[in-house]
Amino acid sequence: MKDTFIHKGLRKKLVATLQKKGIANREVLAAINTIPRHLFMDSGFLDHAYVDKAFPIAADQTISQPYTVARQTELLEVVRGDRVLEIGTGSGYQTAVLLEMGVTVYSIERQNELFKKTKRFLPQLGYRPKKLIFGDGYKGFPEAAPYHGIIVTAGAPFVPKPLLSQLKVGGKLVIPVGENVQIMTVFTRTSPTNFEKEEFGEFRFVPLLEDKN
Ligand code: SAH
Repeated sequence: MKDTFIHKGLRKKLVATLQKKGIANREVLAAINTIPRHLFMDSGFLDHAYVDKAFPIAADQTISQPYTVARQTELLEVVRGDRVLEIGTGSGYQTAVLLEMGVTVYSIERQNELFKKTKRFLPQLGYRPKKLIFGDGYKGFPEAAPYHGIIVTAGAPFVPKPLLSQLKVGGKLVIPVGENVQIMTVFTRTSPTNFEKEEFGEFRFVPLLEDKN
């Protein structure tokens, strides 16, 4: 597992690309500049690791496009010490971005093969999520609720109620909603019973599936 000056140079360029596309949050950009994304991908795709695109990982899933990761993380508006629940651990790249930002991360994955692979892999790079859960993200993880932020990294056909109920007042749920194309949607819990909804354009994700596999 090597991270060379070539990779570091490519990451700097990727960060510049993301800035041009409108990402301004310094902590997010610093995290992307630090994390060796190529190590989160299968070897056949190493050349593509620092191109702003999504790529296949195990079990027919994808590592999200860097712009998408950056935008979703920015929209979460979390600060060091906050507690975040991620739905869709996948390669663990998004998890690593949050950990670099000093966030306490709980992350759920429904695909057992990916779950086991990523659980082994992240600590090898020194990334230690508070808990990785093999389970169904539609239910959230009530055991550690409420969260400052919840980030869904697969396309949700509808907004799962348990995720809204597991937010702290002031917390945000960042979720791409839709079947074929998703609208990036942010729900802010403004009181125990009220949520404010905002939309941030179209994205494409692999689907949020029900139950474990
Ligand atoms: N955050 C990941 C993105 C992976 S793609 C990364 O940075 O690589 C989306 C992931 O969501 C896939 O791994 C998929 O298996 C997972 N997923 C889909 N439906 C799910 C569900 N109901 N609960 C938990 N994870 C789910």
